[in-house]
Amino acid sequence: MDAIGTLRMLSGQMELEHAEESQADAPKPACFTPKEQRAAFIHPAQLPNGKQIKLLKTLLSSACEKDCYYCPFRAGRDFRRATFKPQEFAELFMKLHQANAAEGIFLSSGIAAGGANTQNKILDTAELLRTKLGFKGYLHLKIMPGAEKGQVERLMQLADRVSINLEAPNTERLLKLAPQKTFIEELFRPLRWVEEIRRSQPAHKFWNGRHPSTVTQFVAGGSDESDLELLTTTDWLMKNVHLKRAYFSAFSPIRDTPLENKPAVDPMREHRLYQASFLLRDYGFDLEDMPFLQDGNLPLPTDPKLAWAQLNLSHKPVEINRAEKRELLRVPGIGLKGADAILQARRTGKLRDLAALRKLGVAVARAAPFLLIDGKHSASQLVMF
Ligand code: SF4
Repeated sequence: MDAIGTLRMLSGQMELEHAEESQADAPKPACFTPKEQRAAFIHPAQLPNGKQIKLLKTLLSSACEKDCYYCPFRAGRDFRRATFKPQEFAELFMKLHQANAAEGIFLSSGIAAGGANTQNKILDTAELLRTKLGFKGYLHLKIMPGAEKGQVERLMQLADRVSINLEAPNTERLLKLAPQKTFIEELFRPLRWVEEIRRSQPAHKFWNGRHPSTVTQFVAGGSDESDLELLTTTDWLMKNVHLKRAYFSAFSPIRDTPLENKPAVDPMREHRLYQASFLLRDYGFDLEDMPFLQDGNLPLPTDPKLAWAQLNLSHKPVEINRAEKRELLRVPGIGLKGADAILQARRTGKLRDLAALRKLGVAVARAAPFLLIDGKHSASQLVMF
């Protein structure tokens, strides 16, 4: 197989496993069928700064010695595997980059001869790209379970983003998904290292003068965990180790794995988890504000922000001309930009109607039931929209 054939194979296989670097509607794991014929290994992706790039998402190798119960690459599973040598991949990528076909890389790998050994392969690739081949674009590099702290530090110096997939929210749940991995030592501890390194190393030691961001991924519903468990861990990571975001990939069974008969999880669960995690990260919500059901899950039919507002704002609407930013952010239909725009507009005069709010980017149909404009319930104006 030539290098492009290897890339097509590894990238197509990876797309089935990894949902990261896209938005909430990221591609999900699907019942695994090798897709050697898949042509597209470059994906449009939005970077943390909002820039759109052509991202090459691939594994360095689909050979793996681990036996994670949900994973198409688990040891012993019968399918055609492929492996790049670091130099082979780095040179191939640079050809694509010079042809303007790819601007960034998301690089992961199956594990062979231990996590530290595999991490070295990813590090070697990144070193070649950055130091020998002069690549200055976006690099998202995976931390391998079993990596050493010194490796994580070097990885961070070369990357724009690093990640390690927790897969499950705690030790007990991980046992149901990947009993060969240890939650605290192999998965959680590297996230702490990343934070320690970020705090102890000045930014100029990192390749573009900035500390890389950190993300993780969970298999939502893979271990019968609740949304409360997933969001408790996510909230802790965001508050304590600067996790930029968590990705949630709804469990979907894969043929020839121990979980092949487990029912797929409703993709709407992913969506609700993303909404809740953004409320926790950006909107001042706490876990106690989330409308968890008795089983610890979020209701699928309702946006968690709307559910909170129906319970808390229906009889106590927010006065648009006096509310503080944190109060505005609690109103459905008012986002981060909308809240700032309202505060800015209030400096020059009163907001008098929903039309003015709409011009500021507020989704007035959603917001109106929870707003007062100069003491009057704004929902009465909705007939105009
Ligand atoms: S370590 Fe587990 S999740 Fe990662 S590729 Fe191997 S089997 Fe899959």
